[in-house]
Amino acid sequence: ARNPDLDPSLPEEPFEYSLRPQRLPEYIGQEKVKARLEIALKAALGRREVLDHVLLYGPPGLGKTTLAHVLANEMNSACKVIQAPALEKKGDLAAILTNLDDGEFLFIDEIHRLAAPIEEMLYSAMEDRKLDILIGQGPSAQTLKVDLRPFTLVGATTRAGLISKPLHDRFGMVHRLDYYTREELTVIATRSSQVLGVELAPEGAGSIARRSRGTPRIVNRLLRRCRDYAEVKGDGVITSDLADACLALHEVDDLGLEGLDRAYLEALCVKFRGGPVGVRTLAAALGESDGGALEDLVEPYLMQIGFLDRTQQGRKATEAAYGYLGLKTVPNSLF
Ligand code: ADP
Repeated sequence: ARNPDLDPSLPEEPFEYSLRPQRLPEYIGQEKVKARLEIALKAALGRREVLDHVLLYGPPGLGKTTLAHVLANEMNSACKVIQAPALEKKGDLAAILTNLDDGEFLFIDEIHRLAAPIEEMLYSAMEDRKLDILIGQGPSAQTLKVDLRPFTLVGATTRAGLISKPLHDRFGMVHRLDYYTREELTVIATRSSQVLGVELAPEGAGSIARRSRGTPRIVNRLLRRCRDYAEVKGDGVITSDLADACLALHEVDDLGLEGLDRAYLEALCVKFRGGPVGVRTLAAALGESDGGALEDLVEPYLMQIGFLDRTQQGRKATEAAYGYLGLKTVPNSLF
């Protein structure tokens, strides 16, 4: 079983809401994205217009939902949040759009999973702020044109490639969120410790940051584990030794890798001799139903730390991956 603390795709827990930055300056990292958004915000505020629609993409837990709320706050507006799969009928989306206040934000998570008719309805809503609503059935059915109040759509997706071109083209801004550096994660851990009212030594913050897979959501979850541990096993202060002991207990290793990551690397390096091998074949070898979880949760971070190459021919292990497993590189069978 996966360690839920390390799975950023699991839904947010209530304690995490309190840790969300509210304004742009509190939002750590993503400096390029922030610089671009800051200008767009100032320009929109100056012209008294709504902000352009924004598409955010990047792995789960990197701050897409948080950023949508931050943008709404900076525009002095509210933000409604929906998950794309929860929209089943066109009427569901129509109800939400027609109920948005002037300038309100709508955040649609997993926007690549919208049903086709609903996605098509979004086109005219985004472009002309108009909805075509079909009233009645059969020969007496009529289309009603409804004008929408100005709004900003923020769409989020884990991979930009999953989104259709017509939808993609209707966003005025497209931003990719990247994994956070260890320094940024350390700052986030420290900030969160202050919100939670727990004492975190600087080396303890570094210890948590190192294992958090570049992901703020994981920082916050590991911090909470360490707080429990510090209260029960220590004197409440999270030192680096204490964080190390706590995270060893939870089987999170020095790089933030856990069971499925190690199983993936072992299969790739040993069973498939370092690749290239397709992700579906790997998924089957690992007893995963399809490659989706591997593509979203395992591979991005392994590529980030230089253990994995994704090539046209398939996945390939790097020398660093062999080093990590304590194995010698297996010579490619072709040579
Ligand atoms: P996503 O929508 O990309 O899955 P979230 O916006 O829900 O990610 O972020 C997960 C958690 O990580 C939030 O609760 C927030 O506390 C924290 N977080 C995300 N981005 C930042 C950031 N830039 N600075 C500080 N904390 C952040």
